[in-house]
Amino acid sequence: MASVTFNNVYKKFGEFLAVANFNLEIRDKEFLVLLGPSGCGKTTTMRMIAGLEEATSGDIYIDTDRINGVLPKYRDVAMVFQSYALYPHLTVEDNIGYPLKIRKVPPAERKRRILEVARRVELETMLSRLPKELSGGQRQRVALARAIVRTPRVFLMDEPLSNLDAKLRTQMRAELKHLQHELQVTTIYVTHDQIEAMTLAHRVAVMNKGVIEQLGTPREIYSDPRTLFVAGFIGSPPMNLIPGEVGDGVFVSDGLTLGGIGRATHSHTVLGVRPEDVHVAGAEEGDVNLVAPIYSVELTGENTLVSVRLGGRLMTLRADKSFAGQIDQEIGIKIATDRVFLFDGETQLRID
Ligand code: ATP
Repeated sequence: MASVTFNNVYKKFGEFLAVANFNLEIRDKEFLVLLGPSGCGKTTTMRMIAGLEEATSGDIYIDTDRINGVLPKYRDVAMVFQSYALYPHLTVEDNIGYPLKIRKVPPAERKRRILEVARRVELETMLSRLPKELSGGQRQRVALARAIVRTPRVFLMDEPLSNLDAKLRTQMRAELKHLQHELQVTTIYVTHDQIEAMTLAHRVAVMNKGVIEQLGTPREIYSDPRTLFVAGFIGSPPMNLIPGEVGDGVFVSDGLTLGGIGRATHSHTVLGVRPEDVHVAGAEEGDVNLVAPIYSVELTGENTLVSVRLGGRLMTLRADKSFAGQIDQEIGIKIATDRVFLFDGETQLRID
């Protein structure tokens, strides 16, 4: 059993509040992703679990053990850094075996476990090499092997895939997910890449400016964003966010009037709609919401991203891969009004 609990944790660097009012329970065996833009406090949160940073106030627990002030080596967590942090003068074998050596595991047992994890990450033929003789992807796998060579209570992974090329990254992502499922070790994973978060996590904590904006399963975060920040951060291409006013069920903004929207009257509103919920209207469809000129057309392979001009801004929609419209051509557009979100422009909270 290894849950990790934050109770009212704050972390200040001088006067700067890096993490504020942090309350989170990461469950036993859970894969939890901390997701957010650069500087939002993800790494600081991880470092507080590892013991590399101390909380300014509040309590952190692993299971029922309060770990504030406990030395890193007594916390029984294994951390994989973005920079790998391998020992340059040690071979792959000795790098992987290092955590066992400092725990005085006998050499024969050590050898057996090193071989086992090396096979797992496909490094068994490279055991005598030095880190400088490896590719970035191989180094990353050494760092991973070193973390899994023993079974800690908690794995902490800080952007472990960010130095890999796109192909290896996708491959290692699947590998990590499988590994965590097999090892059943509570894992906390930091990334600013929302695709990584959505594909790996049981639950995602979306962070912004040192606070958790929303905690939920990837599906909840995507289909039920509670704040404007979460709505805009999750999804690729991002959700269309259009400022305007809503009253009597009609949303009005520069270039768009849309009926069947909202109940309350709000003068300062942001309407959000995902590109997949905006459609090119068919010739037979009577209820076109607007007609707009095409700004750009991008074929992604499985579909086509089309941007149209809407007042002074652009609106993106996901069209079929056979879409044949040209730049500046006017097209009819239909918005799935049952799939739009409304946010209060001031509080940034969802209102509908
Ligand atoms: P990134 O994705 O860029 O690594 P992050 O979300 O992990 O960002 P943190 O590294 O946790 O962000 O940093 C949060 C904030 O705290 C940043 O504004 C950073 O400048 C600040 N910060 C971090 N460490 C220190 C420090 N030792 N002294 C002062 N400020 C710090």
